Amino acid sequence: MATKLELKSYKADTHNNWCPGCGDFGILTAMQMALFQLKIEPHRVALFSGIGCSGKTPHYVNVYGFHTLHGRVLPVATGAKIANKELTVIAVGGDGDGYGIGSGYFINAGRRNLDFTYVVFNNGVYGLTKGQASPTLAKGIKTKSLPDPTILEGINPIALAVGAGYTFIARGYALDVRYLSNLIAQAIRHRGSAFIDVLQTCPTYNDLYTKEWYDEGPEGKSRIYKLEDTGYDGLVHDADDGDELVAKKVQAVARSYEWGEQIPVGVYYRVERPTYEEEVANRRPSLGETSLVNIDLNDRDVQPLLDSLR
Ligand code: SF4
Ligand code: MG
Repeated sequence: MATKLELKSYKADTHNNWCPGCGDFGILTAMQMALFQLKIEPHRVALFSGIGCSGKTPHYVNVYGFHTLHGRVLPVATGAKIANKELTVIAVGGDGDGYGIGSGYFINAGRRNLDFTYVVFNNGVYGLTKGQASPTLAKGIKTKSLPDPTILEGINPIALAVGAGYTFIARGYALDVRYLSNLIAQAIRHRGSAFIDVLQTCPTYNDLYTKEWYDEGPEGKSRIYKLEDTGYDGLVHDADDGDELVAKKVQAVARSYEWGEQIPVGVYYRVERPTYEEEVANRRPSLGETSLVNIDLNDRDVQPLLDSLR
């Protein structure tokens, strides 16, 4: 029997042990709001996570969940989507998980353009293991748990996603929950690999990029601004127009390097192009008819295949 969906339908009754004031709470609420906004029934959603503080997210959302291995969230989410394309698949993880150990998967998931959403909790540190510098902490920065400033260059996740081929690329801010929930809803609705880098405060280990730092920049104004408020348009209107594709990518990368006094959030880049599932179905129409989980292998005679491998 169908039950009426409410925001609390997406909340799991599990004790939450994130630190008080952690930006993760904002991302969690935004995700639940997005699912409620889209009215996707909980049993049609599968949420996957890597290792780190963000890895606990599936414990707190009342949908199917899988807490995977460090850096391996995208291969597992990919397998689930390929097996059951009717699921709404969401992957979450931290900046260390996704841009460090999982960086190869991050790039190749973009190339594939499978229809799923990847949300990265980007706080500049490895929070769960006491605040070591993550791949997004810029060279020369010293947070309170580091003995010395970092000596490695920080990576730019938006620029990396543009280069990898993600077809929806956005950045959000964990403490603007309503705006972030709308970004997540857009990402879920997008057909293809959608990626959102979320600026997330870690009050326990990152004493530089705090709520006060983001919200009270020069002259007491927020450093965060919305791309669309400046007339920015990240949508590629004609995916067959190579010049427009390159121009939109260059524009997205240029904005992604803005950091400090002004930090843009919003949709940097979006294009409609065939998904992995559609490409496979074009080549193997039988695989496009239904999800793999619906195929009864008992009906299939696999002997000719086995014989061919002898
Ligand atoms: Fe949040 Fe940082 Fe605490 Fe982890 S260590 S729960 S990221 S505040
Ligand atoms: Mg982190």
